[in-house]
Amino acid sequence: MAKPADTPMMVQYHKIKDLYPDAFLFYRLGDFYELFEDDAIVGAKILELTLTSRNKNSVNPVPMAGIPYHAASNYIDILVDAGHKVAIVEQMEDPATAKGMVKRDVVQLITPGTKLASQNGDGKTNNFLAAVVHDNDGIATRHVGETARPYALAYIDLSTGELKATRLESLDEAIDELGALEVKEVVLAKEDGLKADDVARAVGEKGLVVSFQGAVEPSSTITYLTKDLKDSLGQAVTGLLLQYLFDTQKRSLDHIMPVQSYERQAYLVFNQVTRVNLDLVQNARTKQKAGSLFALLDETKTAMGGRLLKQWLIKPLKKLPDIKARQEVLAAFNADFFTRGTVQDQLKYVYDLERLAAKAALGTLNAKDMVQLKKSLHAVPALQNALTGTASVSEDGSAGVLNALGANLDPVGDLADLVEAALVDDPPVSVRDGDLIKPGYDELVDSYKKALAENQGWLASYQEQEREATGIPTLKVKYNKNFGYFIEVTKANLSKLEEGRYTRKQTLTNAERFTTPELKEHEDLIFAAQTKRFDREYDLFLEIRTKVKEEMHRLQNLAHDLARIDVLAALAEVAEEKHFVKPDFHEDGSRSVDITQGRHPVVESLLGAGEYVANDVTFPQDKYIQLVTGPNMAGKSTYMRQIAIIVLMAQMGSFVPADAATLPIFDQIFTRIGANDDLVAGQSTFMVEMAEANLALQEATSQSLILFDELGRGTATYDGMALAQAIIEFLADNLHATTVFATHYHELTALADSYPAIENVHVGAKLSDDGKLHFLHQIQQGAADRSYGIQVAALAGLPKPLLQNAEAILSALEAQGAGQVEVDKNKVGDADGSANAAAKNAAEKAEATVTAATVATPAADPMAADKLSQ
Ligand code: ADP
Repeated sequence: MAKPADTPMMVQYHKIKDLYPDAFLFYRLGDFYELFEDDAIVGAKILELTLTSRNKNSVNPVPMAGIPYHAASNYIDILVDAGHKVAIVEQMEDPATAKGMVKRDVVQLITPGTKLASQNGDGKTNNFLAAVVHDNDGIATRHVGETARPYALAYIDLSTGELKATRLESLDEAIDELGALEVKEVVLAKEDGLKADDVARAVGEKGLVVSFQGAVEPSSTITYLTKDLKDSLGQAVTGLLLQYLFDTQKRSLDHIMPVQSYERQAYLVFNQVTRVNLDLVQNARTKQKAGSLFALLDETKTAMGGRLLKQWLIKPLKKLPDIKARQEVLAAFNADFFTRGTVQDQLKYVYDLERLAAKAALGTLNAKDMVQLKKSLHAVPALQNALTGTASVSEDGSAGVLNALGANLDPVGDLADLVEAALVDDPPVSVRDGDLIKPGYDELVDSYKKALAENQGWLASYQEQEREATGIPTLKVKYNKNFGYFIEVTKANLSKLEEGRYTRKQTLTNAERFTTPELKEHEDLIFAAQTKRFDREYDLFLEIRTKVKEEMHRLQNLAHDLARIDVLAALAEVAEEKHFVKPDFHEDGSRSVDITQGRHPVVESLLGAGEYVANDVTFPQDKYIQLVTGPNMAGKSTYMRQIAIIVLMAQMGSFVPADAATLPIFDQIFTRIGANDDLVAGQSTFMVEMAEANLALQEATSQSLILFDELGRGTATYDGMALAQAIIEFLADNLHATTVFATHYHELTALADSYPAIENVHVGAKLSDDGKLHFLHQIQQGAADRSYGIQVAALAGLPKPLLQNAEAILSALEAQGAGQVEVDKNKVGDADGSANAAAKNAAEKAEATVTAATVATPAADPMAADKLSQ
């Protein structure tokens, strides 16, 4: 807010600041961007700047911190990466000629979602900005027989121009999509009623910046970019997103591609918890890429390929023909590793074409970028030839797909030729100071250069001539930036100069500097030629940049094609190196799962050679629930994760870590594994566990995969067991989803006797003669005989007397508790028992929830649990 005592400059400052209250205002003052007031105080701390003040001696000095304009981008990166916004305020007129206050305005608002990758940024990560809208009055969603989808979401990567939109059933789905895309900023409509907190809450540990956008102004650009969307809510959300970009970027955004709509359900769906549980894009423990499935598969050679691979990972496919199309290319690449090698070698020369094309549109493509563009394009013909040349060499007939990949490429060779002909190979960063254009490309540039060279030659001879005329052998003709060309004579020799012929320019301690009419004349010629040359080179550069911009869509298409080839070649490489096989899929609707010698690829890669124990995974058609028992550390969760990872890899079109695999297509994966309790702050372990279980029970279908690890451990023993049993029964009776349920409750293994869908397996362990426990990591038929808890504790190094005491307590408990458990087992083991009937009943009413099942389960004697804990 302006204050009465403000100077005219601070009045202007406040006027602008009032429009951008939530941004750091970088206010341009000469060669500096200045931060004022609170921005200065907070900014100085974050950026480690010196905090000073303006009008130090006045009653109200203004806190101030300055940043040299040429170093601004680093400071902007730091602020924006920390989740702040930065408004760049430039001088809109030349201070030298301006009358009164120099006009200033915001030229760009940089936010976490609109920040373009910095030079040292991770090219393999997209930076998505998203928008979410909610259809308050329901008009857009009232279609008879359709599921209501009152939310719409759009997202864009400003650095590539990729724009997508979808419709969603719930805010949870929207939040999950934001998490999958690792969105850092989301735009909401001001008048929508969606609250920042609602959206920001579950997006994980990293903060989400929420921005509000006012009305969308109809424009031909928005109409064009949304032309392929049929639904009004989708158009609304895309329009909102675009309007936000127009308002913040204030520059040409011609690289944005028309929006593509997509259906969440068209892909294998899983949520944030599952992404974390399976270490998909980062290792859950270290939060690093290393130790993730992405790191294992990422043999891509280009940044674009890396980004696409990640997108494939978080959105595996469901349509068999699409999966097969990817598999075929992998198979062909593996059959012909010579071609694959050539293709990958060429890809190493390809820079981030997608972002280069976008830079052309944004007007930030410099000459160095253009050389990168050229080098990238130069790699394409060899790559293309390798692909199209494969038809004759492959024996298995699969070469056709590589051929087609190659034939479809447009190498945009005309642009490569243009840049090659026009630009030098190592141009400077500045495009205003010449040295960009190759000799022979432009007659004018050449003629200015020639004029310059001639004048340089004249200068050399002029020095000789003057030395002779004056008899001063040390006389020099020199140049500097401030004074131009001059003759320099030492003080001792001054008397030798002819009176009246030399005009003094500058006096130094030991020398004087002069000019003459001839020198001045040539100096003018040189400056004129120099200026003309710089201008001409700059104009030519802009001309080429316009050409690049005109070919932007071809470049974007090429970038996409290369990214796809890159990912497929990378997956083929990994498949070969790590001995993956091509999975088969049932085409007859069978739900059986048959994996021979499957492995968890990440765990395998962390162990020494030959240490990983491969395991078969077999779900016959009618046995869709596996109860896994076995001691802690035996490998239960590794086994479960392995199944999900093989399913996921198979559906992304990759080969899988196994000797053979035949799978159905899954629609969703649900997991409850391990301790990720910190994900949702403020909820107890048990509450999180139940919420996750509930999600699976509500949403899973017979086509889904469910992994539950030790469900129920977060509460009293009998409560937990009762819930676990009721959940298993619910799964068996109602859901028919392929389920792996690891449990410590051995009592539950009896369920296999009453439910044909349930099968017991266990992870083998054995005691050696000295009583030491050995893990076999081998999945075996049937239930585990015991849980070896005390032996595992022994491995952890607990004191011997303590362990002996534990053995004694255990025997006592077993003697005392067995009867109790036995009674319960008899009650609930009855297939027509009340739990079962109640669950069926609840499902019929279509309102089955965990709560319903819980209430109906014959509760274990609450006293029993208390007794145990005494
Ligand atoms: P659990 O879930 O039964 O407690 P984990 O699946 O977490 O056990 O496995 C514990 C450790 O055992 C893993 O970190 C891994 O080092 C090792 N392990 C698990 N499965 C295998 C396997 N199939 N082959 C070799 N080592 C394994």
